[in-house]
Amino acid sequence: MIPSPFEFVKVRSVDEALTALAEHGEDAKLLAGGHSLLPIMKLRLAIPSVLIDISGITDLSYVRVDGDQVAIGAGTRHFELQRDEIARAEVPMLPHVAGRVGDPQVRHRGTIGGTTAHSDPASDLPTALLALGGTVVLQGPGGRREVPVTEFWTGFFETAMSPDEMVVELRVPRTGSLGWGYEKFTRRENDWPIVAAAAVDGRVALANMAGTVVRATATEEALARGASIAEAAELADQGTSPGADMHADQEYRRHLARLLTRRALETAAA
Ligand SMILES: Cc1cc2nc3c(=O)[nH]c(=O)nc-3n(C[C@H](O)[C@H](O)[C@H](O)COP(=O)(O)OP(=O)(O)OC[C@H]3O[C@@H](n4cnc5c(N)ncnc54)[C@H](O)[C@@H]3O)c2cc1C
Repeated sequence: MIPSPFEFVKVRSVDEALTALAEHGEDAKLLAGGHSLLPIMKLRLAIPSVLIDISGITDLSYVRVDGDQVAIGAGTRHFELQRDEIARAEVPMLPHVAGRVGDPQVRHRGTIGGTTAHSDPASDLPTALLALGGTVVLQGPGGRREVPVTEFWTGFFETAMSPDEMVVELRVPRTGSLGWGYEKFTRRENDWPIVAAAAVDGRVALANMAGTVVRATATEEALARGASIAEAAELADQGTSPGADMHADQEYRRHLARLLTRRALETAAA
């Protein structure tokens, strides 16, 4: 449970972080809240030779309205998002979901950029981001680029981000008073989701039903054709490939996906 030795570099700006990434290459890892990276380092599943600590980049911590979108800085911690007045008014699903991540200690350290970059298929906030739509803003040596959330999570702990880039912002549409629903099934309140479903504006995203967070496209298509919520939700697990573990086998996860999707859609429609 002790990580292998590493060099530690503290940076104060995105430019400094990108310079350090360019200097140290693929051996380096950014450290934000550390609540995903440090556990896997202790298990020696990640053995970076350099940790670039970006937690002191205060410029990356914000929530602001920008036209018809809400922009969230990558360094925004889960508890900051949970309590943010702009987020609560403009995109209320996100602060709600931020408040369902882990326990208070996790929420006070973990960042939205970290959970986005980590690409764990069981993550709560990426599930909500995928249902909301929008983009992940990356910055690298060539400047900024925006990747739609539908293209960002490419595989189990894999993303469309290059090793010399970092997440600097998340952008989601302002949903205001539009209905939404988030259903997370856990054995204990503070746990990761065994399965979760997020629904807003006819879109549904699922956690822990494949190698990445995924959209329930068969459900979305059925809703667009005018199917009832109950009929559409019955299709939620189509095209998914859930794993099995000590918490649930594949059939149980499929059942949960259908059930949680129905509940999330019903809440969104209420
Ligand atoms: C006990 C416990 C319970 C948890 N429960 C839940 C839960 O219920 N639901 C849930 O969704 N999550 C849960 N988490 C995970 C938590 O949300 C993490 O904080 C989050 O997944 C990672 O964010 P971080 O800021 O801590 O990232 P870090 O751990 O610092 O980094 C994670 C990865 O992202 C990279 N990275 C970080 N920031 C950036 C950036 N800006 N640009 C590019 N790469 C970056 C790092 O290099 C690393 O590879 C839990 C964690 C713990 C320890």
